[in-house]
Amino acid sequence: MVSHRSNDIRIKTKVGDRLVSNFALWEFENQDGWVMIQPLTIKTLELTRAELNVRSTSGEVQIIITGSTRTQEQNERLAYRLGWTTNGGLVSPTSRHLARYGGDAVDFFARYAHNKKLVPLEEVANVARHYFDSVFIYMTSRHIHGDNRQKLSQ
Ligand SMILES: [Zn+2]
Repeated sequence: MVSHRSNDIRIKTKVGDRLVSNFALWEFENQDGWVMIQPLTIKTLELTRAELNVRSTSGEVQIIITGSTRTQEQNERLAYRLGWTTNGGLVSPTSRHLARYGGDAVDFFARYAHNKKLVPLEEVANVARHYFDSVFIYMTSRHIHGDNRQKLSQ
């Protein structure tokens, strides 16, 4: 069977000496079906996922992507709703979600595969901090933001 869904492509990456593939390109699309993703973002997500699974006492943990690289227009739409950080809001005009400022940011949460219950955000953030340069918790929208602003600016 050939898939006719755009971006229905598994992403393979090496973690240690293992080739892993727990994410697909479509998971990183924006509302317009456009996608741009840094290889390092996939690697850090796979490492985070792997450690969450090692620590899990409740079976398989999955990472669900809720946001990735944004267009300028998309960032502005979001800021219209949530405000610019320069005015005490939540959206940065130089967001790592924008391609020209790295495009290496990803928003996500984690859940247990068998019952879809959320892994506590604090727990996910603590593990994510082992791999991402910057990790923030957004309690109201129940997601973690991770980016690699140091590694990618070297
Ligand atoms: Zn974010």
